This record gives sequence, C-alpha cells and structure tokens, in this order.
Amino acid sequence: MSDIDDGLHTPVDATRGIGTPPVDALRAAGTSGPPVGGPAFDSDHPPRADLVSDCVHCGFCLTTCPTYVLWGEEMDSPRGRIHLIGQGLSGEPLSDSMVTHFDRCLGCMACVTACPSGVRYDRLIEDTRAQVERRHPRTARERALRTAIFALFPYPKRLRLLRGPLRAYQMSGLQRLVARSGLLQRLAPALATLESLAPRLRGVPRPPARVRARGTRRAVVGMLTGCVQSAFFPDVNSATVRVLAAEGCEVLIPPGQGCCGALSVHNGRRAEAQRFARRLIDTFESCGMDFFVVNAAGCGSSLKEYDELLADDPVYAERAAAFTAKVRDLSELLAELGPVARRHPLPLTVAYHDACHLGHAQGVRAQPRALLRGIPGLELRAIADPEICCGSAGVWNVLNPAPAAELGDRKAKAVLATGADLLVTANPGCLMQVAAAVRRRGGSIALAHTAHVLDASIRNLGAAALVDRD
Ligand code: SF4
Ligand code: SF4
Repeated sequence: MSDIDDGLHTPVDATRGIGTPPVDALRAAGTSGPPVGGPAFDSDHPPRADLVSDCVHCGFCLTTCPTYVLWGEEMDSPRGRIHLIGQGLSGEPLSDSMVTHFDRCLGCMACVTACPSGVRYDRLIEDTRAQVERRHPRTARERALRTAIFALFPYPKRLRLLRGPLRAYQMSGLQRLVARSGLLQRLAPALATLESLAPRLRGVPRPPARVRARGTRRAVVGMLTGCVQSAFFPDVNSATVRVLAAEGCEVLIPPGQGCCGALSVHNGRRAEAQRFARRLIDTFESCGMDFFVVNAAGCGSSLKEYDELLADDPVYAERAAAFTAKVRDLSELLAELGPVARRHPLPLTVAYHDACHLGHAQGVRAQPRALLRGIPGLELRAIADPEICCGSAGVWNVLNPAPAAELGDRKAKAVLATGADLLVTANPGCLMQVAAAVRRRGGSIALAHTAHVLDASIRNLGAAALVDRD
C-alpha cells in the first residue's frame, strides 16, 4: 500500500468494482474537508454536465484505473471522480478532499478505453483541473514544487543546461553514494524521484534544421523535438530523423520550437498551454509540411487536441484545426506511408509497452506492433495488465512519489516476467519510470524507443546495438 492516508481509504477489494457505487462514501467525500466557499466551478469552461450524465455507474472502468487498483477506494476511481464532478456542478464547494481525489488521477485515460458508454472522462478531468488550478488555494509547499516544475520542464533550453552538471554527478560516482545513503529520499522525496529517474546521458549532436529524404521524396514532415526528449533523449530524436529520411521523408526541425504545452494542459494550466500552442503553430505552419510528426506519446495526444484548446481564439482556431489534422505519431505516419527502406534482421525478444497517451489517448496500438513485427527475427512478447499505467504520467510521479513507485514496481515486475531482451515504448516518461523501477528491483533489461529499433534494423546495426546501449 502507498503511504497516502487521508482516512478515506478502505482495504483493496478487487471484486468490488462492478455494480452500484457505495453511496455513503460518495456523499462523504464530496463534502469533507474545508470548502473554499461558493460553488466548485465558475463559468469559464466548467466540466460539462451532459458528459457527467453519460456515466451509468456500471463500474467497468474501475479495474483499469491505477489508483483504484492501488487503494480500492471508490473516490479514487473514474466513477467516483465523475460523481465528485457532478457534485461540484450541482453547487457543492471545491473541498480539499475533492481536490485530493482529482489530483490523484494520473490522467492515463485507461477508463476512457474501458468505458462501454463512451464517457469523455478526458474532457471532464481536463476542465476540472483547469478550475482547480485557478480556484483552489494550494499550500506553500505544493505551490513551490509546482512552480519549480513548471519553471523547468516546459523549457528545453533550461533542461539542457542541466545536462552538464547531471552528467558529472552520474560519472563521478556521487549518484551511487547518494542512492546508497537514502538521505535524499528522506529529506526531499520529489527531488529523490527526479534524481532516480534521470537517464544515463549520452552526447548526441542536435539534428540540423532540414534533413533530405533518401531516395524519392514521399512527404515533407515537421518534427517536434520536445523538452525532456531533446534534453535527455536526443538519441531518440536522431534515430527518428534517420528513420523518417530512410522512409522517404524530408524532415524539417526548426530550432527554438519550444514546448508543445502537453505538461501544462494535463495539469490544468490552460492559458500557459495555449501560449505554447500558438508559438508552435507560428513556428511550423508556413514551412510547407504535409505532416507534423511526434515521437513522444504525451506530446502527441495534446497536439491532436490543439483544435479544442484554441477553439475560442478568433485568430488561431482555424489554424489550430489545420495544424491538428497534420499531427501523427511516428508509428502512425510510418504505417500510413508503408515501408520502403529494407529491414535487416534483429534476433531479439521485445516486450512492447503501450504508453497511456499513445494507447489510451490516441488509440495507437496496432501500428508500433506492426512495425516491430515487420523486422525479421524480432519476436514480440505481451506484458501482463498492459492497460495499467506505469505511474509516470507526466509529472505525476514527481508530485506523488510513493504511489508512482508502487505502480512502477508493478510494471517492472510484469516487464521482467516476459523474459524479453528489450523493452520498447514510445514515451520518454515511461522509459525513465520503468528503467528506475527495474533498477530498484535489481533487475536488468535493455530499453529503447520504437525509433531506435527501426533505426537499428534499417542500418543493419545488429541486436547488440540495442541490448548493449546501457
Ligand atoms: S485517467 Fe487513469 S487514473 Fe484517472 S480516473 Fe481514469 S483510469 Fe483512473
Ligand atoms: S465511466 Fe463508463 S465504465 Fe466507468 S462507471 Fe461510468 S459508464 Fe461505467
């Protein structure tokens, strides 16, 4: 069990999910804790009542919800959170306990996939979070942590400045010493989580602003380099560019493109996300691209919603819709174009992990698997409970270190049980989260992005280039 305890939790009963929600718990949770005063939501994009009423309380979503799996608590399930949103819409104030249950949602969207009634929980929680961020006073500690996170993560240049000191810290042996002492974990759990997640940094030159297609040009694609991706996984971007070029794409990578706003919008910072979105549209819309390609699942899911994010903006609404129509995950685009570059054998067993924002939020599951199966000698292995989040979820693991570690450990156990040589996924957050959890368990498995595997096959680098990377 996690160390979170607000008195609302009951022991886990995995069979309790389906059926009628426990009414007393629903009533109690909505009103406990000191209310802020006034109704929970104001008139600036409140969660929609019609979406709340789509929920028929069947409970089919419960067992796919990571927080319900951890705690077995109705209020930490999708159904419970939808009920709380309904209470807010009916005039209840935004209580501390309500906010706690909203904050504990990972935004993994497993419930959206599982829901037979098509409830748009994604819209509900996004609108709710924006209201919470504007209207709910946070403690000084919460404010300080969030301020630090949002002053750093959406800024690739600031993240890149960390590379030098971080590399020195990793290579000096200080990291091992700090991990062994357990001091950081005791004094600053959020910082300890960040420290444990940091990947081994590699020096990779940044791709040029334009890379020509190899052979006949089949498409012109703009490419997002991302924040965490460009600072900590530049090798994923390099592999992506090489694969795209080999498949006949001219790749445009304007420098200074900035953040896509995913982290901000997923955490209720809508105005900030809109600023990032406008800037990205300004940067790319006149470059003549056919597609806009993304290799990070969290970024892709928010880029595909720019039309909704900027729907009220008279200057950007149409431009955002045109931009959204061009957005593709790397695997989607490659599947759409069909392969032209020769695949060389990679005799490997691979466990493919669906990043939530690729599988649940974008419905992209078949394409990466088809691309991997197209490599001679490569065998795919299934991971148990694939719908359950690894606990990364943007910055959720930094804000909620203990339950995130618990989810990471469960995922690492399932991954290691496959006995695969290599874990492949398409999100930097998942790569860091699962790698840290595998290390904690004393296990070992090589990790790679889908782009690494395709790149290694196309360039005939052999399996060792992937399994010996770490
Ligand atoms: S988004 Fe994920 S964590 Fe949130 S309610 Fe749905 S399944 Fe649970
Ligand atoms: S969100 Fe969907 S699956 Fe979950 S209780 Fe409501 S109707 Fe059922």
